[in-house]
Amino acid sequence: MDEGAKRARKRGPERTEESPLTGGRSTRGTAGEQTWGAGWPGRVRPDETTRLPSAPPLDLARRDRAYREIRLWGDPALRSVALPVAEFGAALAAEIAHQAQVLFDAPGTGLAAPQIGRLRRIVVYRLPEDGPEPFFRALVNPRIVAASPERELFEEGCLSMPGVFAEVERAAAVTVQASDATGAPLEIDAEGHHASVLQHELDHLDGVLLPDRLPRPARRRFLAELRSTLAGGRQSRGLNHPAG
Ligand SMILES: [Zn+2]
Repeated sequence: MDEGAKRARKRGPERTEESPLTGGRSTRGTAGEQTWGAGWPGRVRPDETTRLPSAPPLDLARRDRAYREIRLWGDPALRSVALPVAEFGAALAAEIAHQAQVLFDAPGTGLAAPQIGRLRRIVVYRLPEDGPEPFFRALVNPRIVAASPERELFEEGCLSMPGVFAEVERAAAVTVQASDATGAPLEIDAEGHHASVLQHELDHLDGVLLPDRLPRPARRRFLAELRSTLAGGRQSRGLNHPAG
């Protein structure tokens, strides 16, 4: 099991042994039945930490549809502060399912709601991107409640800044509290790549973008490369490269 899934834990009332939410355990569909794109969200519930099958080959039509929804560098939604979610219910579940569909189709590692023009504090992500037992998670109103003093460099990309990557220094480990899609409290201890994904995605909820985290010379290089990539059009995006 992935470290992140192992470390995710529910707080609040005790849950029954068979609950898929217990201790970060998750449901597993019939082998071969689930798929990343076409099968989602029909067979994978968005309200829990969910194990997923390995990724199928990239579906270009679905990818292009996802790209049309993802806001790019320069879009004001990316610089806006998202609003907390106050109501949990079917509408929120549908919203999360849609956001997850875009994430899976892009495909990306993580996606924050402002990246598809919704100023709501919702993040979806999946890790590891190509491991044997990847998991998916949706976080509502997430916040970092603890960060390690140790810092680490992480290679990051962003679906809203396609095709450009940079090493970003972030806390090596963080603790995040959030609600899941049903409003149940969730606490996640993350380190390494998992921690960098969470910090990147939570930044999006406050209008903070990857280049803001770079020292000035690196930021200049990043933005120059980004401008030339964007000038090349959407098709110049890196294929299937994990990005948030
Ligand atoms: Zn991003």
